[in-house]
Amino acid sequence: MRSTPSETPPHSENERAIGAVMAGRDVTRERSAQADRERIFKEVEEQAAELDATLTSVADGLIIYSPQGEIVRMNPAAQDILGYSAAERKRPMGERLPKLHIQKANGEPFREEETPPRRAIRGEPVHGVIMVIHPRPGQTVWLSASAAPIRTPDGDFLGAVMTFTDITRLHELQEQREDILRAVSHDLRNPLAIVQAQAQLLLRNLHKAGLTGSVHSAEAILTSAQRMNDMIQDLIESARLEAGQLPLERQRVDLAALAVDLKRRLDETLETERVHIEASPGLPPVWADPNRLERILTNLLSNALKYSTPGTEVWVAIRRQESEIVTTVTDQGPGIAPEELPHLFQRYYRTRAAHRGRGGLGLGLYITRMLVEAHGGHIWVESRVGVGSTFGFSMPIAPADTTGPEQ
Ligand code: ADP
Repeated sequence: MRSTPSETPPHSENERAIGAVMAGRDVTRERSAQADRERIFKEVEEQAAELDATLTSVADGLIIYSPQGEIVRMNPAAQDILGYSAAERKRPMGERLPKLHIQKANGEPFREEETPPRRAIRGEPVHGVIMVIHPRPGQTVWLSASAAPIRTPDGDFLGAVMTFTDITRLHELQEQREDILRAVSHDLRNPLAIVQAQAQLLLRNLHKAGLTGSVHSAEAILTSAQRMNDMIQDLIESARLEAGQLPLERQRVDLAALAVDLKRRLDETLETERVHIEASPGLPPVWADPNRLERILTNLLSNALKYSTPGTEVWVAIRRQESEIVTTVTDQGPGIAPEELPHLFQRYYRTRAAHRGRGGLGLGLYITRMLVEAHGGHIWVESRVGVGSTFGFSMPIAPADTTGPEQ
């Protein structure tokens, strides 16, 4: 068949040309795509190197997990603390974690599901969880760990990150502090109790024998032993409060009734006849730990009596102010200089005037503030030199649905 012009590939030359042009275009596009890929790859590599350098320089342990719990990245500090081998690092979380024999601070085993990385992978952020791990035979490491899920700005789940600090040394220091506290509270107080008991006996015998001239010495021994006992008590209590070891046992408490009863019980040790209590009628109960409330009131009352002129009156006023009960203790003492007022509730703070006289360690008001604040209340002071001082504190009113002690 003869080919007609229409049948002959009329554009063969042109097509080749077009093909060549297209191929030329493709190559150019491919080259630029390749360049793009290389640039992006380089950028990613640079960012990864930056991230690695940052993670390496972090002193705390840091691990980044995939959504399945595999370790994606881990800095040298984490490697150092956990002591994973290269093979262990690659194992699934379910195989890695049991190797650490994780425990809680109280020695109970940590259920794997409750561990910070597991919780973070479930989407739950955790903060400051104490874990005890045993990464190598005979080694115990205390960790404070935080973890959080990682999400894109659109909310896609990318995995989780955990950071942890080795607090073993801190824990050891805490244990040493506990040992000292135990020694102070038992070993120092036992002989002191004997000194007090013997001084009391001596005092009675001196009275019986009519040796009133020597009574003064026995009384001085008794008062000093009592002061020393109070100071030891303050030291122990402030250390326990700071360590969070004085949990509150809250219940509904009639603050006015407690104050009246306390005044009666303190009359052996304090000049309570100087104290007048005024309470608004029908006050609702507060939500407080009665023992701690007693400590707050005793501290303020004994300061008011101790730092004011003997014989002057001390007024305790108890009234309602919105959802709180406010108690104020007012004395007619020397007052406190304005520049000293902001420091009164700080640890070991004693005014210049107090340094000249007797007193404690400057822990009483510090302990009082910690106790008031632990109840969700606040404490304050108003004072005028030469007129007197008023210390006030608030306590929350017990919620209507509370009947007995807190569970
Ligand atoms: P201390 O154990 O020395 O009594 P506190 O913490 O109870 O310590 O009190 C701190 C300081 O505040 C005391 O040293 C005292 O100077 C001053 N202070 C406390 N209460 C009164 C008061 N009612 N009048 C005057 N000064 C007071």
